[in-house]
Amino acid sequence: MPAPVEIEVVSCLSDNYAYLVKTGDVCAVVDPSEPEPVKAALARRGWKLTHILNTHHHLDHTGGNLALKAETGAVVVGPAKDAARIPGLDSGVEEGSDWELGGHKVQVLEVPAHTRGAITFVIDGNAFTGDTLFTLGCGRLFEGDAAMMWKSLSKLMRLPDDTKIWCGHEYTQSNGRFALTLEPGNQALKARMNEVNIARAAGEPTVPATLGLEKQTNPFLRPDSAEIRKSLGMEKEDTVTVFAEIRERKNSF
Ligand SMILES: [Zn+2]
Repeated sequence: MPAPVEIEVVSCLSDNYAYLVKTGDVCAVVDPSEPEPVKAALARRGWKLTHILNTHHHLDHTGGNLALKAETGAVVVGPAKDAARIPGLDSGVEEGSDWELGGHKVQVLEVPAHTRGAITFVIDGNAFTGDTLFTLGCGRLFEGDAAMMWKSLSKLMRLPDDTKIWCGHEYTQSNGRFALTLEPGNQALKARMNEVNIARAAGEPTVPATLGLEKQTNPFLRPDSAEIRKSLGMEKEDTVTVFAEIRERKNSF
């Protein structure tokens, strides 16, 4: 039996999250925006960094790579398809190149659209989704289109419902306000937003959320919801067309 997995949320920059994933004598950081908060969290917990995992190339997810690697010798793991854009990359992974972290299988899912190389790491029921799936939202389409993002999100939706979603930013409250404009009658969404508002008022993170809760409340996973379709006046359009409209409206929300 491998040692249990412990996860520590590390707030970085203004609204980024990096995550420490510790099991036994192995400790990975996911998406270190900057080195200092990560080093402080490691020191506080007495953990030694062994791996750096990047979900995508954006600087607010990789900005700490080189300093942390230089200081700790940690191995940098990220998308092989974006090898040239991941600072200090040692090990490029792609879908199917599953590997092990401290005896736990790490599943790699390719989820392009926010960036063309975006990946999600799934470790012991925890999905690190970067800027692809946000709690109550999804990432912007910088290097892909709506059809590509819908395919990526559909892939994540096939994970077990109790999978915990750890995303790259604290956007839940504003995402939820947008969600309520489309689905004001969604009781699960209303209940969730009450909890989100309480957590944010107390300065607490709103991650993780289960995939099951996302499926009930995240409009980007619900383009087939009758209420959302009615709100958009798109009762007959296909799923991707409705999804694209939701993404478009969020851009100007
Ligand atoms: Zn990004």
